[in-house]
Amino acid sequence: MKELKITKRIATALICAAIALSCAVVSILATASGDTLTVGVPTDRCPVIYRDADTGEITGIGADLMRAAAKEAGYAVTFKAIEEGTLKEALDNAAYNVVMPFGSAIVSASGRSTVVSDNLTQTPFTLVTENSGELPSLNELRVGMLRSLSGAAETVRLLYPGIRITLYDTMSECVKALRAGEVDALLHNSYVWSYILQKPAYSGLSVQPSAMFSMDFRAGALDTITGRAVIARLNDGIAALTDTRRQAVVLDHTSRRLYRYDLSDYLYEYGLILLLGTLLFVSLLVISVMKWRAFRLEHEKKMRYLIDHDPLTGALSLKGFRKRAEELLRAHPEIPYLISYNNIKNFKFINDSLGMEAGDVLLRFWADKFMEALSDMEAIGRIEGDHFVVLRRVGGDEKMRRDEETVFHPVRNFFIDRGQEQRVQICSGVYILTQRDYQQIDIDHMLDFARVAEQRVRETRKDGYEFYNPEQWEKGKRDADIVGHLTAAIQSGKIQVFYQPQVNYDTDEITGMEALCRWNHAKLGWLRPSEFIPTLEEAGLIYELDCFVWEKACQDLHRWNEAGKRRAISVNLSRRDIQSNQNIPGHFYNLIQTYHLDAEQLRIEITETAYAEDSATLIETTEKLREFGFPVEMDDFGSGYSSLHMLKEAPIDRIKLDLNFLSGAGDPEKGRIIVGYMIQMAHSLGINMIAEGVENAAQARFLQSRGCSEMQGFYFYKPMSLEEFERIAEKAESSDKAQ
Ligand code: C2E
Ligand code: MG
Ligand code: MG
Repeated sequence: MKELKITKRIATALICAAIALSCAVVSILATASGDTLTVGVPTDRCPVIYRDADTGEITGIGADLMRAAAKEAGYAVTFKAIEEGTLKEALDNAAYNVVMPFGSAIVSASGRSTVVSDNLTQTPFTLVTENSGELPSLNELRVGMLRSLSGAAETVRLLYPGIRITLYDTMSECVKALRAGEVDALLHNSYVWSYILQKPAYSGLSVQPSAMFSMDFRAGALDTITGRAVIARLNDGIAALTDTRRQAVVLDHTSRRLYRYDLSDYLYEYGLILLLGTLLFVSLLVISVMKWRAFRLEHEKKMRYLIDHDPLTGALSLKGFRKRAEELLRAHPEIPYLISYNNIKNFKFINDSLGMEAGDVLLRFWADKFMEALSDMEAIGRIEGDHFVVLRRVGGDEKMRRDEETVFHPVRNFFIDRGQEQRVQICSGVYILTQRDYQQIDIDHMLDFARVAEQRVRETRKDGYEFYNPEQWEKGKRDADIVGHLTAAIQSGKIQVFYQPQVNYDTDEITGMEALCRWNHAKLGWLRPSEFIPTLEEAGLIYELDCFVWEKACQDLHRWNEAGKRRAISVNLSRRDIQSNQNIPGHFYNLIQTYHLDAEQLRIEITETAYAEDSATLIETTEKLREFGFPVEMDDFGSGYSSLHMLKEAPIDRIKLDLNFLSGAGDPEKGRIIVGYMIQMAHSLGINMIAEGVENAAQARFLQSRGCSEMQGFYFYKPMSLEEFERIAEKAESSDKAQ
């Protein structure tokens, strides 16, 4: 029983194994007999063969026809996109059983012959041109085709032997060649054209229906036993396809909306709108940003205004005043300023008796009066309660009087003028800014000084004003008179050029002269240079004066030259002139050109202290002046501190020895020794020397005995007007001739 059971089990197992084995054999045989067909196809020929954008499957007219024919032939079809560049190459790839489409049998890339199936369908081929004009016959045409259609190209060549076909890698290259006139037309499957020409950029191309011809659509394989078997079997399937079926497939794919816009299409189609839109957007953006910035600036300005201003009177706040005053002093170091501190002595009483409102009205009135009187270069601030501070240009007593009249008087009488018995008492302290205040700007410090003066008024008097530094006020007034009158004085001849002759003590001859200016000031009387030159230098105005002096000297030299008298004039050059004009040598050169002078006739004096203070610039200027041929003299030698050092550095022609050594304080004998050695040193250095400030015969004789015969000084001549100089020079020259 047991044995029977075992035998039964073995039999069952054997039967199962036999069934499994037969199934496997059947499946192997089925595969071997080629029931699954792998078809290699290009996928860039929509709607003939393409990849469905949604499913990713290969489909199209050709694919569907092949699928139907293969099915009829008993094949299951798999389409595979060929990776080779052309169908010819794909034929050699064993991964495909067949490749399509072919118009006719061609030779594979490796040179092997092929077999093709029967025609799946007739596909129309059409030419496309740039314009719709008449075309020569196909046999005489230059035609462009895609390289992937090289198989079809071969078929076309067979059909039309005269045709010249050029292959391009992409459709855009084809179109480019057509547009450039390299080819007359492009050739492709009509179905494909109907797809491609939907591209907006190709809208200018036109199909040439007259030049249409048909090409077969076949599958091909290498001419091998299997290849031939597959093709033969396929042919059976193809034969089974009815025309109706074929037309249905074509209709199915040609009626679909297959073309999908890519980015370049959208750009082409909507480029202009896009550009305009972008421009509009950018403009809107720019406008918004600008508006936003303007709004912010306006807002900041408002905020700044609120911080910097006093809301009650509109005057500056203390912070605003500090800022504005600093700005002005920094920008205008040449303007003489004062700072006043003003306070209403009886303000508390006014508030108590007339009310706060009345007090506010008074403050506003005062501020308004001040602001009417001030220029843009001045500032007013209310720093607390009834305390006003003012930065004002110094304008002398006259301006003070005007302020008294237009500001202080109306304020003092504010209530009286309005029928109330209350005089406003104003105490003011004034601080006149000094040169140091412009170098180290400290507004609080200056306000403190003005406040001290204001306190003095408050404690000692009913009202009025007082200066913290009255001597500075006097100087300020004088400076203002000098600075403010310079231009008018030059124009009206109030500033004159005087000449002080220079002599050779050995021969008594006049060897030159120095131009020195004199000012007959309308208000201050005759001024010596030492009284106004430092002020003009501080105010940056010396250049204006010197230009006038230099030009006048050149005019006189020119006139004398014309009269046959060649003379030489020494003119003074201030260090500040070089700051005003970086090209002083050029300026002098222009002058001698204008007045036809020789450069040696214009000697340039630069003081020794200038060399010491700004040696690099002055040495450079000296070198340039000498390059032009101007003699350069070191003025006031011996009066400064670095004479010897400077002698080594500056390339000068002549030293003007300041005779203070002999006449100034100290032991005269020692002075003589020093002067003696200085003359000797100049000789040894090969530099000429002239002594200036020679006041008596003893000095002259001493200088002569030491070897310095060129002299200038009161002992010989004082600086004199042009007329007087001409008289003296004529006399000296005629007596020379007489001798
Ligand atoms: P400086 O260039 O050294 O001119 C010589 C000064 O000495 C002149 O003074 C002259 O009058 C004076 N002087 C001449 N002989 C004697 C004398 O025997 N004894 C005494 N005690 N003094 C004598 P001044 O004209 O008052 O000029 C003073 C300075 O002003 C000049 O000194 C010069 O540096 C400057 N200066 C004069 N005119 C001008 C000018 O047009 N431009 C510039 N930048 N500076 C000028
Ligand atoms: Mg001089
Ligand atoms: Mg001098």
